[in-house]
Amino acid sequence: MKKKRLKKKYIIIVIVAVILLLVLLFFLFGDNFLKLETKSKKTTEVEYATKDFKYPKVTCKYLGIDKSKNIKRLNNIDLKKVGKQDIKYSCKTLTFKKDIKVKYDVVDKVAPEMKLKGDKSLTIYVGEKYVDKGVTATDNVDGDISKKVVVEGTVNTKKEGKTEITYTITDSSGNKTTLKRTVTVKKRPVNGPRYSGGGSSMGCGEAGVIYLTFDDGPNGLYTPVILDALKKHGVKATFFVTMAGPDSMIKREYNEGHAVALHTASHDYGYIYSSSANYWADLNKVSARVERLTGKKSMLMRFPGGVSNTISRHYKNGIMSQLAKEVEDKGYTYFDWNISSGDAGGTTDPNQEYRNVVNSLSKSRGNVILMHDIKKHTSLAIDSIIKYGKDNGYQFKVLTSDVICHQGINN
Ligand SMILES: [Zn+2]
Repeated sequence: MKKKRLKKKYIIIVIVAVILLLVLLFFLFGDNFLKLETKSKKTTEVEYATKDFKYPKVTCKYLGIDKSKNIKRLNNIDLKKVGKQDIKYSCKTLTFKKDIKVKYDVVDKVAPEMKLKGDKSLTIYVGEKYVDKGVTATDNVDGDISKKVVVEGTVNTKKEGKTEITYTITDSSGNKTTLKRTVTVKKRPVNGPRYSGGGSSMGCGEAGVIYLTFDDGPNGLYTPVILDALKKHGVKATFFVTMAGPDSMIKREYNEGHAVALHTASHDYGYIYSSSANYWADLNKVSARVERLTGKKSMLMRFPGGVSNTISRHYKNGIMSQLAKEVEDKGYTYFDWNISSGDAGGTTDPNQEYRNVVNSLSKSRGNVILMHDIKKHTSLAIDSIIKYGKDNGYQFKVLTSDVICHQGINN
């Protein structure tokens, strides 16, 4: 009996010991069965201030049983802070708790925005002072960083030349933006003052030279006649073209060595002279045509009616003063004339046109002659005008950016 009772006691002790051991094991190793996991293992890059950010999917299981409703996110991500961040999660059961960190790196890949103050290309005369207007730079992360812009290139205003000024800005994440500006330093004209009073006493270009200029074309009927005459005499001229006439004529002008320059697309005074924006939209249109047909952008132009026209007063006060400055600032050269053939209204008689021209020619100055290749009488007068010039020892040249021929500005 005694033995039996003793045996029972042992069994109870063993059972209790086993239970205690199991409880101990449970507390020691039981949390191994609590699993808090996410699929994003390594560091995940997220874009600065993105609106698409989604928190990671995190799962919690205990002994294979889903406990995800017990998950708590302990902090938020700060998308407005560049750099590495952890998001912490924890999952709790009655007895156990697990934590994980999900690693993020908030990165800025957006380059700063930079804007030029003033024009992209501009022209000044030798000896004039050049003050760079600079740029503004703003960054999505750093804000206004205009003061950190690195400027390279110095304009030497003492001699002719072209300088490229480079502006570079780098944000705190190393994103870079670059802009360029071209400054051309040009010799101040020697032939008369920059704005002479106009009229035939004004010198334009080199003495003893005739610069034939034809406006408002091309024209399918008369431009070829004029080109034939120029070819026959081996003489080059300048054509200030519009959107009129066949493309082939502009190509022919260019291929035969003449200067193809810009007049405006529409030649509509009411439109082009009512605002600077209209003027530029119109000029850019004809500029695109010339570039398309010749492969070259022309920087030579003539204002419809000349810079001295007063008709523009009807549309906007001061527009010619404004445009004259703007075209030069942008690197264009504009040309008026000091001899008018009168072909646009004064006369329709080729003999009269011839006399108008030859009686105004002067050997002691340059002669820029205004004609229109859309006029029949001009196509009839041109041969004898060239002949007179050659017989009297004049040279014929195309206009180039170093010729200055400016009338006075009246508006
Ligand atoms: Zn015109």
